Amino acid sequence: MNLENLNIIIEKEPAFRKKQIEKLIYQDAITSWDKATVLPLKTREELKEKTSLEINAKVFKSKDVKRALITLNDGFEIETVLMKHEDRTTVCVSSQVGCALGCKFCATGKLGLKRSLSTEEILEQVLFFKREEKINNIVFMGMGEPFLNYDNVLNAIRILNSENAFNIGARHISISTVGIIEGINKLSNENLQVNLAISLHAPNNKIRTQIMPVSNKYPMDKVLKAVDKYIKKTNRKVMFEYTLIEKINDSLNDAKELAKLMRHPLYLVNLIKYNNTEEFKAPSNETIKKFKAYLEKGGIYVTERYRFGGDIHAACGQLCLKK
Ligand code: SAH
Ligand code: SF4
Repeated sequence: MNLENLNIIIEKEPAFRKKQIEKLIYQDAITSWDKATVLPLKTREELKEKTSLEINAKVFKSKDVKRALITLNDGFEIETVLMKHEDRTTVCVSSQVGCALGCKFCATGKLGLKRSLSTEEILEQVLFFKREEKINNIVFMGMGEPFLNYDNVLNAIRILNSENAFNIGARHISISTVGIIEGINKLSNENLQVNLAISLHAPNNKIRTQIMPVSNKYPMDKVLKAVDKYIKKTNRKVMFEYTLIEKINDSLNDAKELAKLMRHPLYLVNLIKYNNTEEFKAPSNETIKKFKAYLEKGGIYVTERYRFGGDIHAACGQLCLKK
């Protein structure tokens, strides 16, 4: 897809045309400008010539999951995952090509950062699946760190949210961050009802720094302070993602320390069973059960993420462009 020239074309048109074209692309999800019969022929021809609606993607399917490998115009590739839950269909979108932050356990981190995505490239991922099914939930949990591409992510969210385009409620949109403090602060001032998730993955800064080098720059106590400020301002719940990795962060002592940290009425903890890589393994189900029970006993609100997509390399942390 190539919408780079879109603004140049729209500028010459009457003001309502922008809305009309946005609706055609994102709400009607047309795949060819020939279908845009509401537009004057001349405009349609120009759009056809200068902006492509074709999405170059390869799809991998398993039972309730589809993974799309999208090739961008400069040849870089990104991944997007669609997950079907009983009550909703979620698209997990990427915000960057690769990621600069190098968390030790994450396959995307191993790629390094190639570049950030434009607003249109973020939307293209949702649009790709929207052309096939009804989408009602978005998570920014694919490749990249959304808060290191803040403006384009927020612009994309506004269009996802817009009645004229995707019409997905802000409460059905979640951003996951490792804890980029500037991003958390900015989001608190947006007056948007989107959900914030923090990739915590450790009960203290010592363990966190070992697996997430970004903690050197953004230590845990400062991240939590920013989160508390965000909660004061927005009164919204915050989810903490905690991926359980064997012998790294899965002991009862870790649970104890985590329970102390997470005692807050608007915090919730989402436990994720690690998807194995060469270096790290998931703990046994027994260990996970005990860890969860310990937190629950301490009055912490805990959920466990249902895992799927592993067979097509679509699960959390597996997005590394495998074909
Ligand atoms: N960069 C953002 C958005 C990516 S979200 C962030 O890190 O929050 C992807 C989530 O999957 C993160 O919580 C990440 O820590 C987690 N993850 C990475 N590798 C994983 C793996 N192998 N198994 C389970 N979760 C993993
Ligand atoms: Fe980047 Fe998130 Fe992976 Fe860390 S976990 S390397 S921040 S994508």
